[in-house]
Amino acid sequence: MAALLRPLITICGTTGVGKSKLAVELALALAQKFESGTSRHGYRGARIINADAMQVYAGMDVITNKISVEEMRGVEHLLMSFKRPGEQYIITEWVKDAIHAIDETYRMGQVPIVVGGTSYWIQHLLFPNRLVSLESSSAYKALQGAPPTSGSLTQSLASLPPELLDLFHTLPTEPPPAADQPELASAMHQLLSALDPPIGQRLHWRDTRKTLRQLNIIKESGRLSSEILAEQSLATLRPRYRTLLFWLYARPDILKPRLDLRVDQMVEKGLLDEIRILRAQTSADTGSVPSNEGESGKEHVNNDYTLGIYQSIGYKEFHDYLSAPAHNDAVFQEATQSMKTATRRYTNRQNMWIRNKLLPAARAANAASRSEDGCDIVPTYVLDASELGSSWDTNVRDMAQDITDAFLNVVELPNPLFLSSTARDLLVDEPKNTIPPRKLICEICTHDDERPVMIDEGAHWKAHIRTRHHRKRVVKLQVQRLKDPHARESTVKNERSDTLEDSFYEISTLYS
Ligand SMILES: [Zn+2]
Repeated sequence: MAALLRPLITICGTTGVGKSKLAVELALALAQKFESGTSRHGYRGARIINADAMQVYAGMDVITNKISVEEMRGVEHLLMSFKRPGEQYIITEWVKDAIHAIDETYRMGQVPIVVGGTSYWIQHLLFPNRLVSLESSSAYKALQGAPPTSGSLTQSLASLPPELLDLFHTLPTEPPPAADQPELASAMHQLLSALDPPIGQRLHWRDTRKTLRQLNIIKESGRLSSEILAEQSLATLRPRYRTLLFWLYARPDILKPRLDLRVDQMVEKGLLDEIRILRAQTSADTGSVPSNEGESGKEHVNNDYTLGIYQSIGYKEFHDYLSAPAHNDAVFQEATQSMKTATRRYTNRQNMWIRNKLLPAARAANAASRSEDGCDIVPTYVLDASELGSSWDTNVRDMAQDITDAFLNVVELPNPLFLSSTARDLLVDEPKNTIPPRKLICEICTHDDERPVMIDEGAHWKAHIRTRHHRKRVVKLQVQRLKDPHARESTVKNERSDTLEDSFYEISTLYS
């Protein structure tokens, strides 16, 4: 599978960490190697494809943090589409344009390098079909009460006992407390287990909140969560390209002063002039009176900060300052400060996305490709950009170049965890959305079928069968069975002999 896909390099990371700088360095090194005849893979160089939602606005170079011509050092940097201030580059459109630009790059004998802080875009470029499921779930909402019912759900509904079918149509609006209404809680769990067994197995009957939520998902979407999850994980497993993913990372304490300084520099470079132009354009577009700082009176600019370039950090923050009749230093300082805070919050969100969404998807894709042909299809590296200067050259530039060469030559890659302690910390971290373990019913401890004793499989189960309570029950049942071979049928229902035998085995090994 991996060998059939074309190679793509992506650089993600927060604002202000040096993604474009690294992309330019990689592109120049590739071109240099080709010219000197030392590249084995034969790529002539690289083109950089923008994956930053803000950089697509024409002009506005300061507020959108566009890379300057000098910084590009002759490397082609594709922004693809240019948008007007209030327009959005919607994700499906961007993915389509990016695929087109990538194809064109291959035709030119070059390597595409996708670079940007909008990891959401990168994720949907790398992992197709995820978007389809997103779109269809919103399509369900649009259908309003007429969800397409999946075949397996229709079947399960048809074979439900009447009381459970009744319950399906009359679900409580609030999750009932299991302690007060064990019958209802247990019936809801039985209903879910009948409709969607893989999900039912992973929820405890006492967890009425999650059980009810799952039942409502089934009712509203007409589909089973297990089906949706299976589809999504299949979609995740197949990336569009063989992708080398670099996460350029700087420690927050080190990045903070750098980002603060950058805000000050943006102001020096003419940020406020750009915002003034934007405000004037908007007034002209909406037909309202252009605001004039010299005049007093009501502010007529009424912009939607959630759309287009108006979302960019700085626009909203300087609104009050620019709306004031005259320069006010206190208001100016306050605006600068809130722009710094907003930038920092934004970088936190960027890192969260990479950590909680992009990396788990890459991990899932790698797990699948490893089982197929033994290698990662989305090798992922954290590069520590905390230190600048000569440290950048060794920790970032040279490392990235060596890994890129190995990746393009399809030779063995270094272990991502051995690159740095930062890499270990960020890559080893437990993924947040792990699937809960299956719940096993302990037939021995269950007195009442309506309230089964459920324990997580694995370590919890092993601990449970060693508990005094469980062992006592086993002995009690054993004695009962000796006294009267038919007694256990009346005391323990649905008893699985393997469970009992396992427990005896566990006890005998404990005492031996
Ligand atoms: Zn037990």
